[in-house]
Amino acid sequence: MNSLSTSTALALFGGEPVRTTLLPYGHQSLTEDDLQAVLDVLRSDWITTGPKIDEFEEVFASYVGSKHAVSFSSGTAALHGAVAVAGVERGHEVITTPLTFCATANSVLYQQAVPKFADVTQDTLTLDPSEVERLVSRQTKAILPVDYAGHPADLDELLLLAEREGLVVIEDATHALGARYRGRDVGSVSHMTVFSFHPVKHLTTGEGGMVTTDNDTYARQLRSFRNHGIDVDVRARQTTGQWYYEMKTLGYNYRLTDIGCALGLSQMPRLNKNIERRREIAKLYKENFQTLDALRLPFIRPDSESSWHLYPVRINLKVVQGTRDEIFQALRAEGIGVNMHYIPVYLHPYYQHRFNSRDTSCPNAERSYRELISLPMFQSMTDEDVQDVVTAVEKVIRHFS
Ligand SMILES: *Cc1c(COP(=O)(O)O)cnc(C)c1O
Repeated sequence: MNSLSTSTALALFGGEPVRTTLLPYGHQSLTEDDLQAVLDVLRSDWITTGPKIDEFEEVFASYVGSKHAVSFSSGTAALHGAVAVAGVERGHEVITTPLTFCATANSVLYQQAVPKFADVTQDTLTLDPSEVERLVSRQTKAILPVDYAGHPADLDELLLLAEREGLVVIEDATHALGARYRGRDVGSVSHMTVFSFHPVKHLTTGEGGMVTTDNDTYARQLRSFRNHGIDVDVRARQTTGQWYYEMKTLGYNYRLTDIGCALGLSQMPRLNKNIERRREIAKLYKENFQTLDALRLPFIRPDSESSWHLYPVRINLKVVQGTRDEIFQALRAEGIGVNMHYIPVYLHPYYQHRFNSRDTSCPNAERSYRELISLPMFQSMTDEDVQDVVTAVEKVIRHFS
């Protein structure tokens, strides 16, 4: 009879945890072939700025259905590149969501411009186009939506607004590789779309990022921006036997290596299976949790398919006797590596100090922030891992009900 009482007592209070090893919230999935692809590059003539760059960019562009893909050393560098070639400069404003990683808004600050935070919709937690419209001013240059958790933002509405106001839409799709929007692949919809290859994302190059676009001018400027503002790269010069180059604008060294590109390229054929598995996990979570009124599950619009970077649930604080933090700690103690995405960006001390945040109020984002917990979601999670999460969530919710 003791076993019953220990299995129902929360691990937080000395009970037996559901898992003895922590299940992370995200994890990369690499095979021996992926490692071999990296070794092959290390044994070749080019370990950076070689042939793997073009190969990876071509395969990536064709996967998302865009004309160009330009690789960067990180998703953050790719965001900076996109914001810069959109023509964002000192004095401009860019309208973005507060419910994101700070890198999204920081990319605007890198150009000495001002991020303006518009609230998110309650259902998908992505930028609310009517809130964006309210913030458009003569200084506005771009709109920077985030496909939160892998669910596309209201892209058509934002593109329509952008067309009317002469703005550029830069989509932060760092969560949304493989997502679909009204029959189109994310990466082929906005003026520029940004991806990340950090290990928690769908595909990894260690650190890395990509901008996709159909615009030839943006693509050329992005290639120059990632290479100090120089038009021709070292390999092109070597093959034509030239030493001469000109720096025409101020750029950065934001190049991705051939090592990283080989690693990314090697994972591309498994990408669809990866996203398929994430959809299965999301389905299992939904089947198990939909009867719990303590949880509000992610909402998927009928015209969209999420690529499930995250599985964020919102705690119904009217139903449970506890805070998000207490439930979070209890789940961690059970061995479930939950996480929280995100602290609204304008609440970070740097933003509070630098801007008068009093004029920023995004009630939906702030309310979600008090309720959100991200459950584990990654390709190599087994059905047993999913069951552990379900068991732990049910156990913890029962305790706090
Ligand atoms: C991961 C991420 C980034 C930054 O990507 P890095 O490759 O880590 O630089 C930007 N925005 C969001 C929303 C992200 O999740």
